[in-house]
Amino acid sequence: MEGGVEPPEAEAEAVLMIGHFSGLGRGDIFLRARRQPPAAVSSLIMKALGERLRSRRPLAYIIGEQEFWGRSFAVSPAVLIPRPETEILIEEVLRQFPAPMDSGPRQPLFLDLGTGSGIIAVTLALELPWMRGLALDLKYSALRQARGNARRLGAERLDFIQADWHSPFIGARRFSLVTANPPYVDSGVMEQLQPELRHEPLCALDGGRDGIEEIRRLTSGLPEIISPGGWFFMEIGYDQEDYVLGLFKSSEYEQVIVHRDYAGLPRVLQARLR
Ligand code: GLN
Repeated sequence: MEGGVEPPEAEAEAVLMIGHFSGLGRGDIFLRARRQPPAAVSSLIMKALGERLRSRRPLAYIIGEQEFWGRSFAVSPAVLIPRPETEILIEEVLRQFPAPMDSGPRQPLFLDLGTGSGIIAVTLALELPWMRGLALDLKYSALRQARGNARRLGAERLDFIQADWHSPFIGARRFSLVTANPPYVDSGVMEQLQPELRHEPLCALDGGRDGIEEIRRLTSGLPEIISPGGWFFMEIGYDQEDYVLGLFKSSEYEQVIVHRDYAGLPRVLQARLR
């Protein structure tokens, strides 16, 4: 496959593509491997395959969905495609927020900054049903996608707001938990990345010079929106551990830790406001 998709992803993608257009589960696809699919199905698969290989459009945009934390999320080119690494953030949040014995008189709030397709906000709303969530994005097109995902997956205690993530609501109610997967790719290397990334929204990937400008903007207002003792979790780039540890090494925060992903790379920062 010249300039194509490299195995092993090639096989996994082929199975997802065939499953999507034929309606067959993974097991059935292999059981029926020698049978010819109906003509209408093969023509859809061939068309999708052509698009995948010629324009390098990511599979998730072609089939319009991507799995995250065991659920299928609708994704369009208005939003970043969910990455498996982001599940590390969910894991760490769930570790810190076990079900309360008694949730108290006020429902705790969480805020997801730059929600995109809503994977973090919707997953947390479903996994932490005693909390109420607010999903923020600068882009209306992303919020529409996130809202659609919340509705289709049944996440009810979730509100949406179109706003910038730099000090979004000083003075309003504070949050027990703030999450973010900001753009953190260095502007300087954006050009050299795989062609699939050119189909994704630049604003969700390009973190400015050294990939840290948006991180700096987003984190500077945090002490005003997190409640005392509240938590912050953020996905980071593999080379940003020292930078973020430096940012959070102030007397305002405690329990500042960078968690690694399955590849052993720094991936998620946690910090607790004192
Ligand atoms: N993990 C993504 C990538 O490397 C980047 C996502 C982000 O910038 N938040 O493609």
